[in-house]
Order: sequence, then C-alpha cells, then structure tokens
Amino acid sequence: MTATRYKRILVKLSGEALLGSTDFGIDPVVLRRIAGEVLEIQKTGVQVACVIGGGNIFRGAGLARAGLDRVTGDHMGMLATVMNALAMQDAIESLGGQARVQSAVRINQVCEDYIRRRAMRHLEKGRVVIFAAGTGNPFFTTDSAAALRAIEINADVLLKATKVNGIYDSDPMKNPAAKRYATLTYDKVLADRLNVMDATAIVMCRDNRMPLTVFNLNNAGDLPRVVRGDDIGTIVTNE
Ligand code: UDP
Repeated sequence: MTATRYKRILVKLSGEALLGSTDFGIDPVVLRRIAGEVLEIQKTGVQVACVIGGGNIFRGAGLARAGLDRVTGDHMGMLATVMNALAMQDAIESLGGQARVQSAVRINQVCEDYIRRRAMRHLEKGRVVIFAAGTGNPFFTTDSAAALRAIEINADVLLKATKVNGIYDSDPMKNPAAKRYATLTYDKVLADRLNVMDATAIVMCRDNRMPLTVFNLNNAGDLPRVVRGDDIGTIVTNE
C-alpha cells in the first residue's frame, strides 16, 4: 500500500495521551513527538484533522463524583480540550507546520469557531485542523465528537489513538493471553461490549459507514505506519 492510502483522516487523541510521564497536564516531549508524526503524515499528501480530549486535565464525570454539578463539570472538561488543542497547535507550528483550532463552543479571542466549510478549506490548504470542545454539548465525549467530525468532514477513516496495540478480546493490561483482533465489525464491538469508544461514537460510525482504526500512540511511529497501511492495530468496519 502507498502513503496515499487515505486522502483525509481524522485522528482522535485522548487527553491522557498528552500526559506522557507527567501526572497532570501536558508532557512537552510527547506533544512534540505527536505533532511531528502528524506533520510527517501530512507531508505525504494526507489531509489531517484531529480531535483532542481533555482527560489529562478535567473530565465532567470525575468532577461530578467529587460533588460538582455535572453540566458545569462537562463545561470544564470541554474547556480542558481547548487548552490541549492550543498546545497541539503551538507544537505543530513550532515544527514549521500550519494548524488551526476550531472550537465547538464560542471562544473567539482564543480560536476559531467550528465551521465545517472553513475546516475543510483549511484542510485543502494543508493546515492541520484541531477540533476542540468536543461536540459542544454536555454528556458527550470527545470520542463521539471524533465520530461526528470525521463523518461531517468526509474523512476516509477515524484513527483512534490508545495505549494498546488495537482491540483485544479482554484487557491486555490485565490478561497476558488477551488476543488482538486484526479486523472487527461494529456489531461485534457493540454485542461483546468491547472497550473501544463509547457506544454513541460506535453507533455513529456504524450508521454512517465510517471505518475506524485503533492503534497504539505510545509506539513511536505507529501513527504514520497505520496511515501507510501496515498491519498493525485493529480495523473496525460494518462488515
Ligand atoms: N465533554 C463534553 N462534551 C463533549 C466532549 C467532551 O461535555 O462533546 C467533556 C466531558 O466532561 C469529558 C471532557 O470534556 O469528560 C473531556 O473529554 P473526554 O473525557 O472525552 O477526553 P479524553 O478521555 O479523550 O481525554
């Protein structure tokens, strides 16, 4: 397979991915590596959009468990994703690339609003578009935002970055005999309750026939490899 297997991709990065060796916030070394990999892919002619989570800073559900109102907690979680997105934009630009953050909640002094046509224009011009603030609604996740944006911008694939090499039949962190699936269907992911993304995100991908590839972001170089079409990670499709 060639480097141009995909024309346009959407990469979902969790906030946790940015933690690296730190307990809270962003590890600049990890951020720079990811930004470098994103630019590496882009230089091969692939248009790259990203959705970034906020779990390294705040999650609404966690804040609610600590006593905060859930909707307020989700607002804080969404703002956390904006911070991560700004950090990624900065890292990409410091490496000589161009990036634009578009937020689902209006925060104009800081970044652009999410406007689909504008996002697609940025992509065509070779800018990395970073979608922030999830869907803009409480009770959703950035996985659902990734599914939504991938479908909206007509991405060829949604690439979900995780800490493991793909989807397994049981938790590979707990069970050393866990088996990795090379391919899977959305129906099996849902029926077996495989821990990939929340069900809302999976159903959106299934109903809109958006292919999903799950890969290990902690393995340096796996993101460009998965875009090249190497046999790593797990590919989820309708059939
Ligand atoms: N969030 C939200 N609506 C969205 C996306 C995110 O309210 O559409 C909030 C929610 O509180 C979530 C937090 O933002 O916990 C951070 O996002 P997420 O947990 O998906 O981040 P990740 O796990 O990918 O780091």
